[in-house]
Amino acid sequence: MLVVQKYGGSSVATLERIRSCAERCLLAAAHGDRVVVVVSAMSGETNRLIALANELVRGKAETPGKGPYVAPAKHTPEHERELDQMVATGEVVSAALLAMAIQDCGGQAVSLVGRQLGLTTDRSFGRARILGIDAERIERELARGQIVVCAGFQGVDEEGNVTTLGRGGSDTSAVALAAALRADVCEILTDVDGVYTTDPRVVPHARKIDRISYEEMLELASLGAKVLQIRSVELAMRYGVRVHVRTSFDDREGTLIVPEEPQMESILVSGVALERNEAKITLVGVPDVPGVVAKIFAVMSELGIVVDMIIQNAGAHGHTDVTFTVPENELDRARTAIEGLRFADVAPTVVTDREICKISIVGLGMRTHAGIAAKAFALLAAESINVQMVSTSEIKISVVVHERYGELALRVLHDGFGLGDPPA
Ligand code: ADP
Ligand code: ASP
Ligand code: MG
Repeated sequence: MLVVQKYGGSSVATLERIRSCAERCLLAAAHGDRVVVVVSAMSGETNRLIALANELVRGKAETPGKGPYVAPAKHTPEHERELDQMVATGEVVSAALLAMAIQDCGGQAVSLVGRQLGLTTDRSFGRARILGIDAERIERELARGQIVVCAGFQGVDEEGNVTTLGRGGSDTSAVALAAALRADVCEILTDVDGVYTTDPRVVPHARKIDRISYEEMLELASLGAKVLQIRSVELAMRYGVRVHVRTSFDDREGTLIVPEEPQMESILVSGVALERNEAKITLVGVPDVPGVVAKIFAVMSELGIVVDMIIQNAGAHGHTDVTFTVPENELDRARTAIEGLRFADVAPTVVTDREICKISIVGLGMRTHAGIAAKAFALLAAESINVQMVSTSEIKISVVVHERYGELALRVLHDGFGLGDPPA
């Protein structure tokens, strides 16, 4: 067997934890498995490094803004390059420490970083996409009997610049390496013992899910369940990588992420997610003519800002309002760009709102069952929670509500759809 094990930040937070990861790697190797390990930076380290750069540029040590990417203090390619060069070191340190810890226990291990991994990406610093993996070096080390410890979260572009894969990107490193090496399993070892019906830190009676489909996991990850980075699930689905999310603290079985199985559609709602890091932008009274939304999208895509929900209201007297959401740490840039637009030569009136969050319910059963939206809205109404925006897809319903009601809405939907109950 070839096993990829990914240890997240909390699993390598202290030297003691690193030693216990080393023991776990050695146990797998003792079973006769070839072992490739991917590590994150020690918990808090990536934030610390980003804050240092912020302090240098802005004069104050801000903790990084919340969002899916490494947020630079300055949007120049030069600054972004250096930021990636710096934040990638967090993973370099933990990979080397884990390799030393394995050697200390009598095992053979070698750590590899960025270029040594053969992981090539595009040039979007802070959010780079993987272009390819040349696993020759890793395979050579495995053939020599080494446990190969890879620094997660990083690659190099075609010119050899260090790039990073976005917050939580070590998950993606692990799945990509598992795909390239045709590993039998990619274990994501973390501080929870699996994927739950919702974040167990917010809803303590959430239930662990034994098996979940790629499609549902993809939705949950993109809707705020931070247990896996979205791209890692996309890659797992595309290449059929078997992913097992489990805790690094003991041997309990976790959650398997698998292709859809026939009985899965009988479950209406599998999970509920809360995304706090969204903000809302409204353009008031823009001309109700074709091309308004196109213009907004064009400028957002130039800036690399991912627009999420969009609503264009029915127009009245030739004017209309357009509302959309963006990641909260992109709000200021988005606002400035939108204010710079002209609609029929008139600058738009722009209203922004950070005090929102998005709650989503996900389930394959929504494809074939009616009435789930009605039930969700009734549950929210019973708690007097006002719904500001709605969007749906085949297997999910998302609503935007005031931030203040986020956790309440999450609990109400979670419990209203019976997710805290033991499985039938
Ligand atoms: P790591 O540092 O190991 O990558 P993360 O903090 O990125 O770990 O992800 C694990 C966390 O994800 C858990 O501690 C939990 O609070 C959160 N989480 C959010 N939604 C879920 C969910 N549906 N199931 C399990 N964990 C979740
Ligand atoms: N250390 C990086 C982060 O904090 C990547 C990861 O942990 O997966 O986002
Ligand atoms: Mg993570």
